[in-house]
Amino acid sequence: MAPSAVPQDDSTLTANGIASSIAKTAPSVLDSSSGQSNGTSALLTDKITNGPSNGLKSTPSASSPLPELDASKLTITLTQNPRSVPAAGSPEQASQKVCTDHMITAQWTSSSGWAVPELKPYGPLTLMPTASCLHYATECFEGMKLYRGFDGKLRLFRPNLNCARMLMSANRIALPSFPPTELLKLIAKLCETDGGKWLPKDQPGSFLYIRPTMIASDPALGVQRPKEATLFIILTCFPPMDSDPKGLKLLASKNDMVRAWPGGFGYAKVGANYGPSLVAQGEARALGFDQILWLFGKNGEVTEAGASNFFVIWRTKDEGKLQLVTAPLGEKIILDGVTRRSVLELAREKLGGELEVVERKYTMAEVAEAQQEGRLVEAFAAGTAFFIAPVGLIHYHGNDLGVPLEEGKGGKYTYQLKTWLKDIMWGNQQHEWGYVIEEK
Ligand SMILES: *Cc1c(COP(=O)(O)O)cnc(C)c1O
Repeated sequence: MAPSAVPQDDSTLTANGIASSIAKTAPSVLDSSSGQSNGTSALLTDKITNGPSNGLKSTPSASSPLPELDASKLTITLTQNPRSVPAAGSPEQASQKVCTDHMITAQWTSSSGWAVPELKPYGPLTLMPTASCLHYATECFEGMKLYRGFDGKLRLFRPNLNCARMLMSANRIALPSFPPTELLKLIAKLCETDGGKWLPKDQPGSFLYIRPTMIASDPALGVQRPKEATLFIILTCFPPMDSDPKGLKLLASKNDMVRAWPGGFGYAKVGANYGPSLVAQGEARALGFDQILWLFGKNGEVTEAGASNFFVIWRTKDEGKLQLVTAPLGEKIILDGVTRRSVLELAREKLGGELEVVERKYTMAEVAEAQQEGRLVEAFAAGTAFFIAPVGLIHYHGNDLGVPLEEGKGGKYTYQLKTWLKDIMWGNQQHEWGYVIEEK
């Protein structure tokens, strides 16, 4: 007979594991109204207010006297060896190897909780060869950008969503919890420290890539829940991303390769999702395509393009109704992208009169049929790294399916959505999604 502590409903195995982990490592994350949090999509809202300092707190827990991640304790050691900023358009900038002067790190152990976070000169981490992340993919990350606006201000874009998602991803792979607001404060502090030098005010429209990461760092080879973890945040130079006016060329995945599956971890930004996709991506590149369009299941459901969400705009077969369509989050095989979410919200708000916004399963055969019948209007990939990238062609079952593109702009709606987002990110429009970093 199973011990009584084992959940009887096997659908809650992951949820229970995550809830008990949050209770142990970041009790303040627990919403006082619900009493518990499953650490997943419920947390993915703009309205995250929980954190050590907001009074929403759960009872100071006897079960966890250990310190939580606390940005107010940050120690600061500024560099003595300032790095040089690569020129705009230089090969150094394009290499994606150059990081700014500083980074933030924070250590966690199961016996002492979260140590004081440190802002310090950018440099190597020290890890033992037995470190869990090097063997068992106990790693998760986020991808964000710091924008230098046309109004001279530094901004993040909906960073609460990234911080909440990072917590969800950490939970999925048994890494410790933290209040998302504390992570956001740390990210903001690093941006405030390095933003002025690395994104000069006279270069509006530029950005740095922000990579918050957590790894299990315990030096022990046992396959077990990590007892030590390291959180770090770095800022990296990226080349400007002007998408190809001809649009991305996508290769639809074949049956021998699946990116994610129900019950897996495709919805989490964990390193384990990316390494195994590189073979297919390399193959696509070798054949002259930019990215894989990941299909799932025997019906060939369209999921994501590379590491971006994917959208099509088509006219329906029967009524000729214009629809913006993307795959749903329900089966948890798709990443709940901040860009995806923003596209859906903007389209519902501003394009609702012109097109219907639909989150549903759809197959590559439906896309191909729409293309052949002249009903395919536009397609684009959406994510922080590549932003909104028009798709010009999809190779599927031996055929090159062309997607109509307006000269130089991608498609009309793709261009419109991209412009609205750009205006918010770079401060042409004051909007609640823009999070201004105050500079000294
Ligand atoms: C990061 C990522 C996205 C895009 O998410 P954003 O929050 O919009 O940057 C989409 N799909 C996958 C698989 C990703 O890793």
